[in-house]
Amino acid sequence: MRNIFRRLKTKKMRIVQNGNPALRRVSEPVAAIDDDIRQLADKMTYTLMNNDVEGVGLAAPQVGVNKRVIVIHTCGDNKKDKSTLSPGEILLNPMMPITLINPELVSLSPETICSGEGCLSLPGVGGDVTRAARVVLKATLLDGQVVQVECANLLAKCLQHEIDHLDGILFIDRIPKEQLEEAEPALKLMAKEEAKRLK
Ligand SMILES: [Zn+2]
Repeated sequence: MRNIFRRLKTKKMRIVQNGNPALRRVSEPVAAIDDDIRQLADKMTYTLMNNDVEGVGLAAPQVGVNKRVIVIHTCGDNKKDKSTLSPGEILLNPMMPITLINPELVSLSPETICSGEGCLSLPGVGGDVTRAARVVLKATLLDGQVVQVECANLLAKCLQHEIDHLDGILFIDRIPKEQLEEAEPALKLMAKEEAKRLK
């Protein structure tokens, strides 16, 4: 029992918060899916699925690793009628939580949707972000398989949010100015606390 506990404990990674430099770096592409990447994927998945606040995605910079790896778990958005699911949801939902290596958006639909977002690295902060309604995702799975598929709904939104993380972009960079001003005190406090942790 103690062994299991120790194993689980070491699997959980700290989710870094606003002010951590890892959140603002452009992450490096993954050159090869080796044991290090598999271990990172495993730990990130565990961290996402066992976080106190429920999240639908986690990007490697959020655990302080600047590699182009994200984990997605949006299949809770699955209640709707199957006919409204995008090909990406039909393909990926059964594999969730799923790790995507070097994910990229091949294209974005001109139609957009504005909806509320939050981020595990910015607890307590929210805002409205306008994003493409549909995206074509290209990514490598942990088994080396390359997928290219059109995604919509929560999956499309989450992919755009997580891939932004790989480019050092946070959702607060995309919210209306007045919402950002409102969030500013909380963001500043978070950055101060994060700076203390990094010392
Ligand atoms: Zn985020």
